[in-house]
Amino acid sequence: MKQNGVILWLTGLSGAGKTTIAQQLENHLREQGYLVELLDGDAIRQNLSQGLSFTKEDRDINVRRVGYVANLLSRNGVIVIASLISPYRAVRDQLRHSTKNFVEIYVNAPIEVCEARDVKGLYAKARNGQIKYFTGIDDPYEEPLNPQITCYTDKETIDESVVKILHWLEKANQLPKLAAIPIPSRNEFQVM
Ligand code: ADP
Repeated sequence: MKQNGVILWLTGLSGAGKTTIAQQLENHLREQGYLVELLDGDAIRQNLSQGLSFTKEDRDINVRRVGYVANLLSRNGVIVIASLISPYRAVRDQLRHSTKNFVEIYVNAPIEVCEARDVKGLYAKARNGQIKYFTGIDDPYEEPLNPQITCYTDKETIDESVVKILHWLEKANQLPKLAAIPIPSRNEFQVM
């Protein structure tokens, strides 16, 4: 039986908590026995999208590439967690329509909170001009208008956000069934 997976698309500002939530979610689901793959923005830019810039055009290409891979995986039953800023609404909406089981998760924290966290020191660099076109500072972030789930990471703990996502998935019946893999009998392997 063909089992669809699901694409959990985490969007939000740098430092909002996408990677942190994505990793916890990945660990939890894997421990439960699910097939799960994390497509994280930073790793994607070092591999699949190496050389792309941060113009709108290149950001959209990046998002489409991740969407393409996410689709390949999810149609084979994998739970895909994509964690990338993906600041433009239109390309996120395109993916929502061109893939199956796309769940938009808005990892939402005010920019002041993200900047105070400044996990990678990038906000400081953006403020003093060392980095240009930084999302939320001198490049746009278009908030999702109708995300299925919003995690308010300035108000919720990491665990609360993860549990919120898991509950939503369970309620929406979006977790693939954990099916035992049938082992074929010997004569099903007969070579013609
Ligand atoms: P992003 O992937 O969105 O750039 P990161 O996950 O790399 O963000 O960084 C978010 C930072 O915020 C981490 O240091 C994390 O520990 C911290 N943080 C504090 N509270 C939360 C929360 N409720 N959810 C997620 N991250 C949180």
